[in-house]
Amino acid sequence: MPKKKFEQVSVLIVGGGPVGLSLAIELGLRGIDCILIEQRGGHPEVPRMSQVSGRNMEFCRRWGIEKKVRGAVWSSTHPLDFVYATSLTGEELARVKIPSYQKRGKLDYSPEGTCACPQIFFDPILAEKANSLPKINIRYKNQLKSFEQDNRKISAQVVDLNSGKSLVINAKYIVGCDGSGGTVREGLNILLDGLGTIATSVNIFFRSSELATLHDKGWARFYRLIDEQKCWAELIAIDGKELWRLTVFNDQTPDKTGRSYLQKMAGQDFSYEVIDVSPWERRDYLAQSFHSNRAFIAGDAAQQCSPTGGLGMHTGVCEAVNLAWKIEATLQGWGGTKLLDTYEEECQPIANRSVELSTDSFNAIAALPGDKDFRKAIKSGKDITRGLAVPDELRTQLCFDNSQICIRDEDHTKKWDNALANTEIQLARPGARAPHVWINEGKSILDLFGTHFTLLCIGKPEKDGETMELAATRYRVPFKVLAINNPNITVLYKKNFVLVRPDGHIAWQGNHPPQAPEKIIKQVVGA
Ligand SMILES: Cc1cc2nc3c(=O)[nH]c(=O)nc-3n(C[C@H](O)[C@H](O)[C@H](O)COP(=O)(O)OP(=O)(O)OC[C@H]3O[C@@H](n4cnc5c(N)ncnc54)[C@H](O)[C@@H]3O)c2cc1C
Repeated sequence: MPKKKFEQVSVLIVGGGPVGLSLAIELGLRGIDCILIEQRGGHPEVPRMSQVSGRNMEFCRRWGIEKKVRGAVWSSTHPLDFVYATSLTGEELARVKIPSYQKRGKLDYSPEGTCACPQIFFDPILAEKANSLPKINIRYKNQLKSFEQDNRKISAQVVDLNSGKSLVINAKYIVGCDGSGGTVREGLNILLDGLGTIATSVNIFFRSSELATLHDKGWARFYRLIDEQKCWAELIAIDGKELWRLTVFNDQTPDKTGRSYLQKMAGQDFSYEVIDVSPWERRDYLAQSFHSNRAFIAGDAAQQCSPTGGLGMHTGVCEAVNLAWKIEATLQGWGGTKLLDTYEEECQPIANRSVELSTDSFNAIAALPGDKDFRKAIKSGKDITRGLAVPDELRTQLCFDNSQICIRDEDHTKKWDNALANTEIQLARPGARAPHVWINEGKSILDLFGTHFTLLCIGKPEKDGETMELAATRYRVPFKVLAINNPNITVLYKKNFVLVRPDGHIAWQGNHPPQAPEKIIKQVVGA
């Protein structure tokens, strides 16, 4: 009998979508060896995600690919407006103006802000970065069939779809970034909670060089189309040139040619080439658990959101970044025994919030009236286009409120809430993403954090951080001390000492060097 072929790796990532690729980059930058398997032959040819959130762009900045992403496709001079119209050549009912990258200039809340870079352009940039990392091995046309785990390892059955040959991959950890179908989630028997399918939508992906000049509305990012009854569809400019996607919000009996929708959207005939028509289920789902022993799930495998909030990939990539440093810490022995459990503890509530916000924004769009009442409402001064999108500032405001590894102080006994996050654009408190501040031309405080723990001594000398650094060294926790003097940081961060985690969230803060630094170091690494 021929011997069964097997390989060994630290982390097996299942799925080469944006979440799996982001996890590969984060782990690869930390020197962790990974195999990423993807059943497709290459990148997706039909875009789903069209907008990278500001927080995801901050990660791209850390990975050194932000300029590529921003320059990939969308012109820096095209405005990013939301237009509400009866059809593209019909009456414009309302417009939410959002300036072009060039006009909006520097933002207060993020060094990056959102970026129009649909998945067909974004995924290849991520894959190129992941492929450039020596410890990352990406294998297309490889499919996970099943896996088993014990207390020491994962044993995964993988099939090479080109040759049909099977392979066993033994790994310390497996992460299912395998989308809504979730082979890993299913293997773990993790159930989904939520409202389930909230609409049957249809995407029509098409090419038309004529469409941009067919009408008088100019370039915008979204054109929302209002008929006699409701807002029935949304047109997105995919490349800001000739690629477009029309999403019909709800149609139980989809026109699979897409033609009737395109005619209605344009309000007249025009020339186009349909590339793809896909009916799909708009869902509201949250996995009951995000891990079991050595197996984890992330991205659409863990939650499924209506795309109306722009939160799907956003949430998944934040999960990948949260998980990566915890896996590194555990593999290298400086992470405590509870550290990996905090992945679910921190990310599941955030995912829950993403699913809720997404369904809310879909319901708000679905509740828009037909054109007559829309006109009336606008005429009477009612701003009916408010609250239809999730502001990027709110997306960026991530806070792990109940985390046992973020040490809350006396100022933060109040539970984090979205209303609070809405009024104060950036909040420095344990659990929250450390706020952005410009420190000089083009440089953000976020650029100083690196991939491990950073103790900021704000308006204080570096030597005040020494006791904590010593404690970190004793526990082999990668750690740096950074003395910084900047009035804007003092105002926003409020405390003199702020400990920032490897994923850019605040772990601890105080006005004095801690009396018992070991205790803090042990707690923030889950010991
Ligand atoms: C119309 C639409 C618009 C959207 N717009 C936005 C937006 O603007 N912003 C945003 O943040 N999000 C948006 N989203 C959501 C976003 O597209 C998803 O959240 C994101 O793609 C999820 O990434 P993922 O890597 O988790 O999963 P996926 O992108 O689904 O990738 C999973 C991968 O796993 C592979 N796979 C599955 N099973 C196996 C197996 N057994 N073995 C090997 N490989 C396997 C699949 O082939 C797939 O490539 C949108 C979604 C839709 C539908």
